[in-house]
Amino acid sequence: MKLILLGTTGYHPSNTRHTACLLLPEQGVMLDAGTAAFRAAARLQTSELDIFLSHAHLDHCIGLTYLLSTTHVHPLNRVRVHSTAENLAAVNEHLFAPAMFPKKPDMELLPLRPVEPLPGGGRLTHFPLLHQGGSTGFRLDWPGHSMAYVTDTTASPTADYVAAIRGVDLLVHECYFGDEQARWADHTGHSHTTPVAQVASRAGVGRLVLVHINPLAAETDPIGLDVARAIFPETTIGEDLMELEF
Ligand SMILES: [Zn+2]
Ligand SMILES: [Zn+2]
Repeated sequence: MKLILLGTTGYHPSNTRHTACLLLPEQGVMLDAGTAAFRAAARLQTSELDIFLSHAHLDHCIGLTYLLSTTHVHPLNRVRVHSTAENLAAVNEHLFAPAMFPKKPDMELLPLRPVEPLPGGGRLTHFPLLHQGGSTGFRLDWPGHSMAYVTDTTASPTADYVAAIRGVDLLVHECYFGDEQARWADHTGHSHTTPVAQVASRAGVGRLVLVHINPLAAETDPIGLDVARAIFPETTIGEDLMELEF
C-alpha cells in the first residue's frame, strides 16, 4: 500500500517542508490537513475522501479551507472529516467562522467512533496522546498491511500508546526536536530523538519514519539520525512528497 508524506513539518512551513498531512491516495484517506493538504488534489485516486484529524491546532487543520481548490481540480462526491467532537466543534466554530473563512467546503464532520472502517477492508483505531489540548494517534490495519501515525505528543517507551501501535509495519512518528532540545520537547508537548526511537523499538514496528520536524532545524540532519539508528536501525527522516510502501 502507498502512503505519501505530503507535509512533514509542524507549526509553520519552511522552504522545504509543509505542515502535517499524509495521504493514502489509493484509499482516499488523509491523516491531518496542514498546509500540505493542497498537494492532495493532483494525487488522489478516489471520488471520496476521509480526513482524520489528530487535533485542531492550525498546523493540522488549516488545509480544510483548501478543499475548495482540491475539489475544483479533483471532484469529490463526499468528504468526511473525523476527529473528536471537541476538535470538530472548534473547526466549525473558529476555522469556519464567517470572519475567518466564509465559504465552508462541503464536508461532513463526524465524531470518531472506537473503530472506523476504511476503504479496502481496513479499520482505523485511535488512542490518546500527551499534548497540550490533547492529540489523537491513529492505527490503520488492512489484511497484511499496517501503519500508525503518532504526532504531537511527548514520546516515551513507557507511554500507554506504545501498546496500541505494537507490531505495525510502518510507524510515522513526530520528532520535532533533537536530543539537545529535550527540555523544549517536554515543555511544548513534542518529541525528541531518543525516546521516539525507543518507542519504535519497544513497539516492535517494522520501520520508523520521522515527521513534524522543526521547521527551524538544519535541513541535512535535523534531529540526529545516527542517534535514532543506534537504537532503532530502520529509521528514516521523512521528506515532503516521499512515497512509502507498507
Ligand atoms: Zn503540530
Ligand atoms: Zn499540536
